[in-house]
Amino acid sequence: MEQGGKPVLGWAAKDTSGHLSPYRFSRRVQRDGDVTIKVLFCGICHTDLHVIKNEWGNAMYPVVPGHEVVGVVTDVGTGVTKFKAGDTVGVGYFVDSCGACESCGTGHENYCPNLVLASNGVDSDGATTKGGFSDVVVVSKDYVVRVPESLPPDGAAPLLCAGVTVYSPMMQYGLNEPGKHLGVVGLGGLGHMAVKFGKAFGMTVTVISSSPGKREEALGRLGADSFLVSHDAAQMKAAAGSMDGIIDTVSAGHQIVPLLELLKPMGQMVVVGAPSKPLELPAYAIIAGGKRVAGNGVGSIADCQAMLDFAGEHGIAADVEVVGMDYVNTAIQRLERNDVRYRFVVDVAGSQLDATA
Ligand code: NAP
Ligand code: ZN
Repeated sequence: MEQGGKPVLGWAAKDTSGHLSPYRFSRRVQRDGDVTIKVLFCGICHTDLHVIKNEWGNAMYPVVPGHEVVGVVTDVGTGVTKFKAGDTVGVGYFVDSCGACESCGTGHENYCPNLVLASNGVDSDGATTKGGFSDVVVVSKDYVVRVPESLPPDGAAPLLCAGVTVYSPMMQYGLNEPGKHLGVVGLGGLGHMAVKFGKAFGMTVTVISSSPGKREEALGRLGADSFLVSHDAAQMKAAAGSMDGIIDTVSAGHQIVPLLELLKPMGQMVVVGAPSKPLELPAYAIIAGGKRVAGNGVGSIADCQAMLDFAGEHGIAADVEVVGMDYVNTAIQRLERNDVRYRFVVDVAGSQLDATA
């Protein structure tokens, strides 16, 4: 444990099995400009699963996952006026950036080359960052957002990553205009948020899914206008050329040519899902129709705050299954099997973190 650090209790994966167990470590002592946050809830993003199993080859064990944090401020450092003890706040995918590069200067700090991730990242002092599967986080005030009081704190947690990751490109590419047709590929944590935002923007929303069993909920509770089964060639053909934009959230290798065929000429596809296997993009699939493909990595802090404020005004939260930390390994296995509607959220404050699963 770091000399003089703040003792913290969390859960970590210690090897590529991805199995989590209790882990004691220390965090930096609160500095000027820092906010100390007692973690209430933390979502389980598919990125956590990719990382703890080292599917992206970048795991720095022990990995304390968690980058969808909602918590309550317990203390603030000198110079922090924006937050005070008792405030409900959120922390997302990153907790620092250089502040000096072009991306930081233009409000796109999520693309800073020296971005410090909330979990499994490298802090400016060289330490490996530890995420929100722990009782306390200490974060610079500039990377903390305010969670509207109108939102339930458990349902708000997934907004910190899943929410902003779809909201930000929807705003950037004009996929927030009433009457436009949005396709959402993969109805998981990210996908179900894209459906909710699309409907709140007044769009026509089609879900493209590999799971026929999700049709009823997509069209019912989530309010999508139509539902395509991605491996049903006839359904896909009937919808060809109908969409202004597509958000692809799929976490595993998949064919994107059939998805690009759904776009209108000059339609925009945004890839946010991050399978470890490369996607195949034959030139003809984008040349014919002048189609556009972009990637998107989460969103800036300003986008995240705007998204939370919009969600607060429109009563948009994630559909969550709240679990105790003692269930986290089962939850991760179920996430891997695509068995969650639509986000697991760990009740961190309500869990006994030193008990074993
Ligand atoms: P998730 O809840 O597991 O959802 C992924 C969805 O993909 C599943 O619900 C499933 O939807 C679909 N899917 C899974 N396996 C598939 C397969 N073999 N073929 C076709 N479809 C499949 O995951 P998530 O948390 O939303 O994250 C999704 C991806 O986005 C992950 O790769 C994650 O790392 C990445 N991500 C990226 C960013 C970013 O900034 N770009 C941020 C967060 C997460 P259906 O059952 O409807 O087919
Ligand atoms: Zn995430």
